[in-house]
Amino acid sequence: MAAPTESFSRNFWSHTAEAPPDTPPLLGAHRSDVTVIGGGYTGLSTALHLAKNGVNVRVLEAKQVGFGASGRNNGQVIPAYSRHNPDDIERIFGKDAGRNLNAWVASSADLVFDLIRQYDIHCEAAQNGWLQPAHRPSRMKGVKKKQASWEATGQPTRLLTGEETIQLTGSPIYCHGGWVLERGGHIQPLGYARGLARAAIVEGAKVHGASPAISVNRVEGYWRVETSAGYIDSDNLVFATNGYTEALWPKLRQTIVPFRTFHAATSPITDNIARSILPENHGFSDTRQALWAFRKDFGNRLITTAAPIVPLGAEGKINASTKARLLKVFPQIGDIEIEHIWQGWIAMTPERLPRLHELARGVFAGMGYSGRGIAMATAMGKSIADRISGASLDTIGPLPVPIKVLPMHDVISPLSRAMIGVYRWKDNRD
Ligand SMILES: Cc1cc2nc3c(=O)[nH]c(=O)nc-3n(C[C@H](O)[C@H](O)[C@H](O)COP(=O)(O)OP(=O)(O)OC[C@H]3O[C@@H](n4cnc5c(N)ncnc54)[C@H](O)[C@@H]3O)c2cc1C
Repeated sequence: MAAPTESFSRNFWSHTAEAPPDTPPLLGAHRSDVTVIGGGYTGLSTALHLAKNGVNVRVLEAKQVGFGASGRNNGQVIPAYSRHNPDDIERIFGKDAGRNLNAWVASSADLVFDLIRQYDIHCEAAQNGWLQPAHRPSRMKGVKKKQASWEATGQPTRLLTGEETIQLTGSPIYCHGGWVLERGGHIQPLGYARGLARAAIVEGAKVHGASPAISVNRVEGYWRVETSAGYIDSDNLVFATNGYTEALWPKLRQTIVPFRTFHAATSPITDNIARSILPENHGFSDTRQALWAFRKDFGNRLITTAAPIVPLGAEGKINASTKARLLKVFPQIGDIEIEHIWQGWIAMTPERLPRLHELARGVFAGMGYSGRGIAMATAMGKSIADRISGASLDTIGPLPVPIKVLPMHDVISPLSRAMIGVYRWKDNRD
């Protein structure tokens, strides 16, 4: 399967993000300490943290920075796993490694907002908590467990009554309660990606757009990465291509399931109605496995998820089903237009946990955030940078794992959409 690409201008965020920094294509032969392939949060955070330490680093991005999921997502900064609770993680990885990973995830949103402040990144940032309302009374059991488990790690959280949840969401359907992760928040995702690129460049990294890496080889003791117009020889190499991974490194593509996700943005809602929806400007995803996520942007548009089971020719269906869903959640909006529908690729792992790989001496990959990548990919970039700079494994958060090829990968990927149907069925029952 070729790298999945699609028009970028359909993406709503490309209309409100600050202009991208200058990222000239790679031309000619170069030497660097580190080459990073992929200009999303993982690659740009790696480059920024390396450059800050005086390391000579170059990023190759096939299209433009933030072209992948980093410029297309919902913008919800969530310092928590999508499936597991911290106590599960300690059971899976053991006490010490589990605690390290939990602390890494818990601090990942602070890292995002600290970078935004430090580098004055203009991306509509709001660190005012991330909200998860229960969509059925039965899901409150899981919400309470999650909240207690994160609270026990020291991460500030809050359990909400039904009334508080209705008040904070502005939706009458969320009357069962929910919880808040206080360090979460939201951003303009493409603005954040472009700001990270600008920060990396300011620190001394070289970032090249329109420079797809086409081959990786070992040449005279260096990793040589070639584009159509040049090459870089370096001691270290970082794959930061996530759901857009191609066949550059043997089998890496077959370790994750790329999952196509759709998003929609409405026309601006009136100030009056906007005040009644998410009045404290939270973003939220509810407890459905077939995700329902909502937020407002600075222009009072509602930005929401859509997940058709059959993606081909889906736009008309998405338009109608998104309007119906919005009306169900926020009946006060009345008639509203869907102005933008776009899509992007998420890298899912079967265990829904991020993966750090050390593929060979000096070769790293960070991927598989399973829909929670704003905070985790930023943190992964820092971890990879720290590791390249010589940090010991017990200080970087995630432990490197060997790559594990998914059996029948090319069949699993398209079939994974059918799981949406299963999730919907479960979401309406348990
Ligand atoms: C629609 C959608 C909604 C989401 N919502 C949220 C959310 O609300 N909260 C959250 O935390 N996460 C969310 N996510 C997930 C999050 O966006 C990702 O986990 C995160 O952006 C991953 O960043 P990354 O840098 O690893 O990968 P990406 O941003 O996907 O970047 C990979 C880059 O690699 C480049 N590339 C690929 N091959 C090559 C090559 N050969 N040479 C050079 N470059 C190459 C691509 O062009 C791409 O720019 C969402 C994702 C999507 C798609």
